[in-house]
Amino acid sequence: MGRGWVHFKIAGQERSLSQSSAETGLDAARRVLRVAVSPSPSPRRWGAAALMLLLPATTFHLLLVARSGPARLLGPPPYLPGLEALWSPRALLLWLTWLGLQAALYLLPARKVAEGQELKDRSRLRYPINGFQALVLTALLVGLGMSAGLPLGALPEMLLPLAFAAILTAFTLSLLLFLKALVASPSALAPGGNSGNPIYDFFLGRELNPRICSFDFKYFCELRPGLIGWVLINLALMMQEAELRGSPSLAMWLVNGFQLLYVVDALWHEEAVLTTMDFTHDGFGFMLAFGDLAWVPFTYSLQAQFLLYHPQPLGLPMASVICLINAVGYYIFRGANSQKNTFRKNPFDPRVADLETIPTATGRQLLVSGWWGMVRHPNYLGDLIMAVAWSLPCGVSHLLPYFYVLYFTLLLVHREARDEQLCLRKYGLAWREYCRRVPYRIVPYVY
Ligand code: NDP
Repeated sequence: MGRGWVHFKIAGQERSLSQSSAETGLDAARRVLRVAVSPSPSPRRWGAAALMLLLPATTFHLLLVARSGPARLLGPPPYLPGLEALWSPRALLLWLTWLGLQAALYLLPARKVAEGQELKDRSRLRYPINGFQALVLTALLVGLGMSAGLPLGALPEMLLPLAFAAILTAFTLSLLLFLKALVASPSALAPGGNSGNPIYDFFLGRELNPRICSFDFKYFCELRPGLIGWVLINLALMMQEAELRGSPSLAMWLVNGFQLLYVVDALWHEEAVLTTMDFTHDGFGFMLAFGDLAWVPFTYSLQAQFLLYHPQPLGLPMASVICLINAVGYYIFRGANSQKNTFRKNPFDPRVADLETIPTATGRQLLVSGWWGMVRHPNYLGDLIMAVAWSLPCGVSHLLPYFYVLYFTLLLVHREARDEQLCLRKYGLAWREYCRRVPYRIVPYVY
């Protein structure tokens, strides 16, 4: 599963959302976001610089408002934290220990070694498939630690300085990788991220797959410290809720369970990440480093953070409905992703051999029935349905827990627009034919 966590390239030109009275809000958003892919140099620089300030500021804002009484997404934070609230050598040490542990688990022997896509120089990189193993070993270590008295419930109090440490790490890592790219061979550079504008290139990342020996920085960051860190933070929030109120609430159980399923699924299907845009197209710079290390663990855990400070009553009937929504979302998400992955690996596999396809000039085929005949991105639809199910346990009294749904809708609309452009370039007329036969992008009959 590909993850462009904060994948908004910079909108270099401002456009009115109401240019055409006939277009829907989503059409307009898509058009503005598409403009973002090819901005002119100066807005590029300022856009990148603005995002490098805005994204960390948003992370801190969400952490602060989640614990405040009114928990207003759009209101000011309850206070502006001073450096003493952000900077903590203890938190930095804890964060670096976490990264060190995940790096050590990454280096352990893997159940399988997978090959990535063919690169410009016709070589293929090799990747250890041991993310799921890292999750299981982390769970064992945390379990052992807790039985030896590790105070996991104290973690929520450290989220602010931990996020600060993660953001510092993302900046430092991006800087080191930017410098490393200065001596990289031209064939190692990413299609984007090499505009000659240092701020923009620092943001997008210059090298496609920066590595030291066999340690691949992008692959390591994409699914491990942040994703496993996310469920660990969720667990810590649940432990603290149990300490405060005697037992975890049903809403907290649901949020923890749903998001754990998502992370387990991502790590179980780790190999699929190698065919995503993040790996085949994007450099590894601040955008991905920040997204993977800071944005995911500290903002994707927002629902659990909200629930700790704002307990929500949830009855069994409503909980069952929410479970059903999550199950439907997961069914579509997994069905669509597995169908495409199976087809791409072996189009003659009996599970996909009967599906209707469109041939393309590249020799590859496009599925035009099954999940991929319903809409052009059925996997995004499933993902969005799950996003709604993760927020519903938090009730409807606050907008804050729905931040993920709002952000994720924008992210996927933008991602879908980028993918369309790439596919049009790759498949030309065959892609146009696919769009004619499957007119809706993400939501049938709506978008
Ligand atoms: P996809 O898995 O949708 O991959 C898009 C690619 O699929 C296209 O470039 C094309 O590549 C191939 N394709 C498109 N249409 C067809 C077709 N009809 N038949 C066969 N192949 C087709 O994209 P992502 O990498 O964006 O998403 C992967 C998963 O990760 C999704 O489920 C998404 O929801 C999730 N995700 C989650 C995020 C998060 O933060 N939680 C962030 C981003 C993504 P080709 O033809 O070259 O194979």
